[in-house]
Amino acid sequence: MSTEEIYDVVIIGGGPAGLTAAQYAARANLKTVVLDKSSSAGALAFTDKIENYPGLVEPISGKELLNIFRQQAIKFGAEYKEVQVIGAKLKEEIKEVYTMDKTYKARAVIIATGAMGRKPTIKGEKEFLGRGVSYCAVCDAAFFKDKTVSVIGDSEEAIKEAQFLSRFASVVYLLCPSKKLKVPEEQVPPESDSFRILKGVVVQSIEGDEVVEKVILKRLDSNETLEIPMDGVFVYLHGSKPIVDFLNYEVDLSDEECIITNNMMETNIPGVFAAGDVTCVEVRQVVVAAAKGCIAALSADKYVHGRKRRRYDWKTKK
Ligand SMILES: Cc1cc2nc3c(=O)[nH]c(=O)nc-3n(C[C@H](O)[C@H](O)[C@H](O)COP(=O)(O)OP(=O)(O)OC[C@H]3O[C@@H](n4cnc5c(N)ncnc54)[C@H](O)[C@@H]3O)c2cc1C
Repeated sequence: MSTEEIYDVVIIGGGPAGLTAAQYAARANLKTVVLDKSSSAGALAFTDKIENYPGLVEPISGKELLNIFRQQAIKFGAEYKEVQVIGAKLKEEIKEVYTMDKTYKARAVIIATGAMGRKPTIKGEKEFLGRGVSYCAVCDAAFFKDKTVSVIGDSEEAIKEAQFLSRFASVVYLLCPSKKLKVPEEQVPPESDSFRILKGVVVQSIEGDEVVEKVILKRLDSNETLEIPMDGVFVYLHGSKPIVDFLNYEVDLSDEECIITNNMMETNIPGVFAAGDVTCVEVRQVVVAAAKGCIAALSADKYVHGRKRRRYDWKTKK
């Protein structure tokens, strides 16, 4: 697809809200794409076992359920791309959604990025953001060619990003707050001089002058403090804050920084909808996220077709 082609709906986020929206949108014949940062980074992907989603007689893992959601959406014609959205321009009739490689254009956008975000909590994290601290390896890895970088985290996403960074950096440290990585042993890359894993360490501060120069760590078991020279720090820790950083405050947020919608999942911007944990929802559950994703897609369908009809009327009046 060329950059000039236009989707009916771009869905940002591939959790239960985004994938249910995708299934309904694609099934309604809307040209639909899901842009998902990582199939292992959302709340459902973190759920070891789920047994309260309707229809499940036996418990299954969150990843298995997510995979079913994804396959169903793809089966109905939705495209799925594992890419991180880094910005968006939503107020025009044709909306633009930005990733590192490409701009996606659409008549309607559904935001379903969940609530696994966090406020910067490490000393120096906010101060050095963009000057050595990053949340996007794909975006910034090339700036760290032949340098020393670290990834803070213990999730599958953190490990994947560390592996990606090792294509550029000369040394990559994986700094894990826990004693055990949250992936099976066989998925953990072997340690070497250029790929080092430190488990059970807490990053106390990120320090430097103009740019990041070092990190200060504390070993949890011995309280020993370590100082490691460092050029880049990629933070992949998770919290419970709605992920809205890429929206640049175009969409109305509450004081808690969740997206405000009405019952039809419409935001303050015509053609922009939101669903799931990223919205100001009272109950964070898969069944709720899926239901709201359905409503968002039906609203997007109505919007896209209404908009097309209005255009047609306008043309016939001339
Ligand atoms: C540990 C845990 C256990 C839970 N157990 C249960 C349970 O047993 N039963 C239950 O019903 N609920 C459970 N929940 C809650 C449930 O998982 C969530 O309510 C649900 O997953 C929310 O769905 P969502 O689609 O809104 O967000 P998520 O599932 O968080 O999905 C968001 C998606 O957006 C993507 N994304 C984020 N940022 C970007 C970006 N910039 N660009 C592109 N994509 C992006 C992420 O990669 C992710 O795939 C649990 C949650 C957790 C954390």
